[in-house]
Amino acid sequence: MKIAVIGNIHSDGWEVLEKANFKSFEIFNFDENNLKKELENVDGILLRTANLSSNVLSGCHNLKIVARHGVGYDNVDLEYLNQNEIALGITGTSNAVSVAEHVLTSFLYLTKNIHLSDKLTREGKFNEKSSLPNFFELYQKNVVIFGFGRIGKAVAKRCLGFEANVYVYDPYVSKKNIEENNCKAIEKIDGLKFADYISIHLPLNKETKNFIGEKELLVMKKTAIIVNTARGGIINEDSLVKALKNKKILGAGLDVFEKEPPIKNHPIFNLVNVVLSPHNAALTLECRKRMAIEAAENIAFFLTDKKLLNLNNIVNKDKLKI
Ligand code: NAD
Repeated sequence: MKIAVIGNIHSDGWEVLEKANFKSFEIFNFDENNLKKELENVDGILLRTANLSSNVLSGCHNLKIVARHGVGYDNVDLEYLNQNEIALGITGTSNAVSVAEHVLTSFLYLTKNIHLSDKLTREGKFNEKSSLPNFFELYQKNVVIFGFGRIGKAVAKRCLGFEANVYVYDPYVSKKNIEENNCKAIEKIDGLKFADYISIHLPLNKETKNFIGEKELLVMKKTAIIVNTARGGIINEDSLVKALKNKKILGAGLDVFEKEPPIKNHPIFNLVNVVLSPHNAALTLECRKRMAIEAAENIAFFLTDKKLLNLNNIVNKDKLKI
């Protein structure tokens, strides 16, 4: 069977594909016309980057599974896959720890003024330490998590380790489940008002686009810090820049942007109370290995031995005859 790998993956993933005796090849050119040409006869696609629109997918006559290298799938036309009974796999057990550590890093970096302390020390202003703005502890602060899935839960666990009070807004998760994880359920508006720290872990869809906009930012504490490692567009970037500039909130951490890569002179680049990263929260070496292996195994097990398959990884299992 023929497998296309779109984007660069760790060699451990290639080993899984080789062991399964697939004919696997890498695609480097993500242009729609090229994708259509190269994907025509493949049985499976391991997708790290690129968009799989219905236009591209309609040219894939043998396709049985698309396996995302990651958990987000807003770059794949799921409706087309459902209609054509093509499976969509994700790497559900790989990412959470890596992203959660990134969230904690952002919280602490912004809270402790690490960038300002570092600059002051390098500039030989050691004795001017009291000129730095106040900095704070995570201890006994209110952390509010929006979205209590795999990553939201991993963030909660780590914040509880810092002895913070952790609140959760996720109408799709029961209060019981939230409390079993030593957190408290909260409504969106109360969470926004109450939070010292906010972390976003929602999927991007029609319901969550602009989930945090001007109205939401205005009710937050002036000392609040918000971090988005989920998807750009869940926080409205124009409103966020305005709130940060006008000191309506203390700081923000963004790993994801409305447009990726962000435009060259993005106004957020001029602000000091932010920490930015190039959508790499899940790209620790450990996580890259795990994602490559899990995505390749999703393909190998789906095509050769479904008994071994982790069905939780198949997003549209209800639409397939498995
Ligand atoms: P998940 O599916 O396990 O959890 C998402 C949670 O959001 C679910 O519990 C769901 O009930 C909840 N939810 C959905 N709509 C909601 C709404 N309107 N209001 C409140 N809660 C809602 O997903 P996950 O694996 O935890 O991933 C979360 C996000 O992180 C996704 O957007 C994913 O694409 C992104 N992500 C980013 C990176 C990165 O590198 N920055 C890596 C992995 C995942």
